[in-house]
Amino acid sequence: MSKGTTYIPIYDFSPSVNAGHLKQILPLLMRHNVAANPINYAIWYDYVAGGNPSLNKAVDSLLAENKAFDYDNSVELYKSHICNASLESFEQINRQLHKVIEQATSAINETYNKAEETNDSFQKKSVILENFSASDGLKTILEEIIQETKALAMTSQAMQTKLTEANQEMEQLRTELAQARQIATTDGLTGLLNRRAFDMTLAEIIEQSAPDTACLSMLDIDHFKRINDTYGHTIGDNVIKYVANLMKKHAEEHHHVARYGGEELAIIMPNTSHEKAVEISENIRTAMAASRLQRKNDNQSLGKITLSIGVARLQSGDNPESFIVRADNALYKAKQSGRNRVIHS
Ligand code: GH3
Ligand code: MG
Ligand code: MG
Repeated sequence: MSKGTTYIPIYDFSPSVNAGHLKQILPLLMRHNVAANPINYAIWYDYVAGGNPSLNKAVDSLLAENKAFDYDNSVELYKSHICNASLESFEQINRQLHKVIEQATSAINETYNKAEETNDSFQKKSVILENFSASDGLKTILEEIIQETKALAMTSQAMQTKLTEANQEMEQLRTELAQARQIATTDGLTGLLNRRAFDMTLAEIIEQSAPDTACLSMLDIDHFKRINDTYGHTIGDNVIKYVANLMKKHAEEHHHVARYGGEELAIIMPNTSHEKAVEISENIRTAMAASRLQRKNDNQSLGKITLSIGVARLQSGDNPESFIVRADNALYKAKQSGRNRVIHS
């Protein structure tokens, strides 16, 4: 489901619910003569899912006005109600940051100019003072100096207030940027890194690591289709979450645990020996094989659920693809040789 306007739309319905949506979407596309492209599909998906009231309102009003769902209208709907594209959001934050910096700069300049003016004025007055001894004149000059000193103090106080405000706004923007980053890199179901973050992290780690100092562990739940088919997708989702938590528990602080896709999960392990990577993977496998998960409402056992894991170590000349292929091949061997095992290449 797309959760309103977000940086990246989040779709976390189970496959069976998605299939139900599909059945409703296709007739709607045909009835309203809408091209079945991915943008329109996303719009009508949200329309059918019903979790995005502002989109439904906008679509209904286009329908009421008999307007065509042409490309421009569709893109407008998509941008306004589904994916306030991250680039635009970041640009907006960027513009705000510039504004804050401009305000702070102009406050500093204002004070600087005022200080310069006052300084000029003090210098003129001291010249006058040197040549002037009448006490009345001296009193006037001293009063002027006091006035100007007070004005300068007020200006610097105003600047301090503006700087404090600018600082608070900066803090707020920093928090918003961190939240946006978090949303864009987190998998909605498990809270692990999502595929995008996995790809970025893996590329970074390969770049920074010498051969044999980093490992990649790819994990797939055994006979997962059977779990879905027997107990339903919601239980299936909970099993994925359980495995994700197990991986987080066994992985080290500096490791990166990710949902690679579906029920395939991964751990990127920088600064980790091959032996350690295999040991951690073995611990996850044995912990899962020993777990006896039960359905919440009636305590019915889900039986023994096992994992197959492939581990690869970084080799010289590796790129993300070659590294993943080696871990995936090891995982494939683990499946082929009977599942519930760790194979390392
Ligand atoms: P194998 O032991 O060979 O891995 O058998 P398997 O049944 O686990 O086969 P496979 O890994 O190909 O199955 C993946 C299944 O996982 C198919 C898909 O319906 C299901 N799946 C993928 N993503 C999700 C999800 O987010 N939630 C649920 N509940 N099921 C999912
Ligand atoms: Mg599987
Ligand atoms: Mg799979």
